[in-house]
Amino acid sequence: MFSVINPANETVVAQVPLTSAEATDEAIARSKSVLGAWKDVAPGDRAMLLRRFAAVVRDHAEELAQLEVTNAGHTIGNARWEAGNVANVLEYYAGAPERLFGQQIPVPGGIDITFKEPVGVVGIIVPWNFPMPIAGWGFAPALAAGCTVVLKPAEVTPLTAMRLGELALQAGIPDHVFQVLPGKGSVVGQRFVDNDTVRKVVFTGSTAVGQQVMAGCAKQVKAVTLELGGKSANIIFADADLEKAAATAPYGVFDNAGQDCCARSRILVQASVYDRFMELLEPAVKGVKVGDPSLESTEMGPLITKAQLDTVASFVPDEAAVAFRGDAPTGAGYWFPPTVLTATENDRAYREEIFGPVVTVVPFTDEADAIRMANDSEYGLSGSIWSQNLGRAIRVARGVETGNLSVNSHSSVRYWTPFGGYKKSGLGRELGPDALDAFCETKNVFIATDN
Ligand code: NDP
Repeated sequence: MFSVINPANETVVAQVPLTSAEATDEAIARSKSVLGAWKDVAPGDRAMLLRRFAAVVRDHAEELAQLEVTNAGHTIGNARWEAGNVANVLEYYAGAPERLFGQQIPVPGGIDITFKEPVGVVGIIVPWNFPMPIAGWGFAPALAAGCTVVLKPAEVTPLTAMRLGELALQAGIPDHVFQVLPGKGSVVGQRFVDNDTVRKVVFTGSTAVGQQVMAGCAKQVKAVTLELGGKSANIIFADADLEKAAATAPYGVFDNAGQDCCARSRILVQASVYDRFMELLEPAVKGVKVGDPSLESTEMGPLITKAQLDTVASFVPDEAAVAFRGDAPTGAGYWFPPTVLTATENDRAYREEIFGPVVTVVPFTDEADAIRMANDSEYGLSGSIWSQNLGRAIRVARGVETGNLSVNSHSSVRYWTPFGGYKKSGLGRELGPDALDAFCETKNVFIATDN
């Protein structure tokens, strides 16, 4: 049994059984046993079942959101968005089963056609930072493609995923098509990698574990999608709307207490406006409302665990160059205030993913310097560019090696556009129109017509 803790007050909110390696293998076997039947559900019926699943999730959105506030310390506003996102993603991919088109390719002596076939049993490994959306980004397209799914939530945040598993059954998704297996990554997640009945692994989490997952999958030539860490740049040019850039910068990095792979945790500011930007940033950071995540007015909650709090605190030692900080509650809960550091390009806080509410601000000289600094990272997941010169914004967007960029905004992920990283931020893309391909094999069939 695992004690699930509310990170805002350190009380135990549930006891959850941990799935063993043997039970994981049994679940994988059940998943395989229903694969043929699920694949053979008529496209229109599979679409209807996914739409029904979306509707049941929507009917339970408030319950799911409250569960996430309690389990993960997400603000209620964010948690409602996250529950709605699961329903949206299901609805979006409910449009897919009737549109899994193949091609007809001209060949001599016959007809050549391709089919999109489900890749098979899919194992989805979910982290604790966005338990609901990241689960949905995996299971919705997988189910739409005709795959069956075993899903492992993070050990510390299993509650919403377990509820989604129940809601799927309530919506009429057949038994064993979508199974949620709470447990340890080193046990359940490792079986997804090692059990060769699983033909595809979707992993979101740290780059270190992602590398192990990929190496394990390589042994079986098993397909893998990886969404890993980030150290994204928020690039602010002198010709930007500085007031808006400064007012929004805290929300581009401190949302979800900075536990976001897309957090814009390096603010790069053109040197000529650096001092003015810092003057504007200070009240914006001090204005972030940190506290009880169940209150509608709260903008930032606690960190997920004591271990994460200790990791984040290690980036802000006593001698750290703190420019200014916001407030956070004291007492029970894993609280850390929004913190702004001035840094050099060699500082650990500037180079490593912190996954907490800590941001570094560093000046750059010109456009080329900004692109150089943004790219001087092993990661490449997200980022923002602030400039009123559209040509510059486009040039910089094309120059930065990263998967998702926003110009004059810190747009969140949209379910109908692709999401994923360059370099050590990952492999493959989730969401958008192409995500289905990650769950399909392409089968080519030639039919002779000259006999
Ligand atoms: P992990 O990479 O350890 O956890 C992510 C998921 O992988 C969890 O479900 C975990 O299970 C599982 N897992 C762990 N070990 C294995 C394994 N050997 N085989 C298969 N699955 C496994 O991240 P942490 O929770 O340790 O977080 C550490 C750091 O990683 C963070 O500070 C942050 O920098 C980064 N991170 C990035 C995320 C992102 O969205 N890109 C998300 C989460 C973390 P379990 O938790 O049950 O052990």
